[in-house]
Amino acid sequence: MTLLFFLLLLASTLSPSLARGSFQSLVPSEEFKNCSNASCARHLLEDHEPQVQASFDLAQGYMTNDDLERAIKEFAQRCSNISRIYSIGKSVNGVPLWVIEISDKPGQEESEAAFKYIGNVHGDEPVGRELLIFLANWLCDNHLKDPLATLIVENVHLHLLPSMNPDGFSLRKRGNANNIDLNRDFPDQFTSINDNEDLRQPETRAIMNWLRDIRFTASATLHGGALVANYPWDGSDDKSTKYNGCPDDDAFQFMASIYSHSHYNMSSSKEFLGGITNGAAWYPLYGGMQDWNYIHAGCFELTLEISDNKWPNAAELPIIWRYNKMSMLNLVASLVKTGVHGRIYSSGEGRPLPGFITVSGINYTVKAGKPFGDYHRFLAPRDRYQVVASMPGFKSKNISIWLDDGPVTLDFVLDPEISVKGSVLQNVYDCNCNSKNKLEFAQFLWGTHLEVYFVFIVILGFLCFLFQRRVKGKFSTRSVGAKRSVVV
Ligand SMILES: [Zn+2]
Repeated sequence: MTLLFFLLLLASTLSPSLARGSFQSLVPSEEFKNCSNASCARHLLEDHEPQVQASFDLAQGYMTNDDLERAIKEFAQRCSNISRIYSIGKSVNGVPLWVIEISDKPGQEESEAAFKYIGNVHGDEPVGRELLIFLANWLCDNHLKDPLATLIVENVHLHLLPSMNPDGFSLRKRGNANNIDLNRDFPDQFTSINDNEDLRQPETRAIMNWLRDIRFTASATLHGGALVANYPWDGSDDKSTKYNGCPDDDAFQFMASIYSHSHYNMSSSKEFLGGITNGAAWYPLYGGMQDWNYIHAGCFELTLEISDNKWPNAAELPIIWRYNKMSMLNLVASLVKTGVHGRIYSSGEGRPLPGFITVSGINYTVKAGKPFGDYHRFLAPRDRYQVVASMPGFKSKNISIWLDDGPVTLDFVLDPEISVKGSVLQNVYDCNCNSKNKLEFAQFLWGTHLEVYFVFIVILGFLCFLFQRRVKGKFSTRSVGAKRSVVV
């Protein structure tokens, strides 16, 4: 039995790298599929706290927070040519939230998609933080050797936050140091109770600010306690447990399937068809991170449950890494291997435009970047789409495409709108494209009928004119009166 197990492991390690445009899946072993021992037990729901025994620390063999910080800094030194590290903030107890960025041009803006992985959202789900260090090191070791590693490093900006909740980890509990579940702390479309950003936890605020800085195309958070790839929506309007797909349901199902089918045995789940699930169909939750990412940050996020056991024996971590390795790599590579990508330009000087991309029939907008006008639109393949590019002050353009298994590159050249409104909007953009306030102002104007403002301004001007005449009239009458009195 043991021999069989190691042979399977060896087979999964030696499997060839992906060809462009296809995703490799792993065949599950009967041994793993039929597992019924304690390590397969699920510890899923939020109220569950592990029974910490005084004589045995669950985290034995896992990296402490200090070990993790050291591993991140050592990685940055060892792989300085393709990475940089930075912190997005601090936890309640002041632990830095370190991020590793992996790219051939780390820290530089390029017309490339960005992806993020976040581990250890729940303090008592530590497998993800270990796997992200495995992933970083594997990419570093295999860049320019393995085609998939090279593809990712050279075409994607990959950001890894191994631990979002270092305090929860050191306390061996789900919530942070204030005992708040961070995956219930985001603004939610179905509730209004948590809309005040100042009341949020520092870890949550750090994520929200991070997404204002970086335009992520897609992401995934790593959890433990089950084995499934979960996609939005996480909640439902009537709070019931039911399938509640978001506008991009097809794309999300496709994205979740990339993970589950590339995984060692996730897709053969007996509980979840194909190893994927809609969040609300499984169990609805509110204030979750994935819905917020999609709604507010333009980022397609999955919630990945990567290990049935929240605290597997640390010796099993390299095995769990191998089970998840192709999934993690394929999900990042999917940003390059699928979907529609391109840039938006103005027809005049050919300058990049930070416009908008929509797809007919899908109520969702993807924003293009400011410096390059680039966009990256995740879509399920094997379908026809009508892609529309728009920009305030320019005429919209739409192009029909057939999206096969590979990616489609689609650039748009937009003509300026010849109208008062168009000129005003173009001037607002021309003035300073780096000013966020000006862009927001232009978008505000764009969404409003500018002509109404002009009529209003004309009426206001006329009223001013009348008022001035009246004042002048009174003044001149008084003056004349004074002169007369002098004469008299
Ligand atoms: Zn979790």
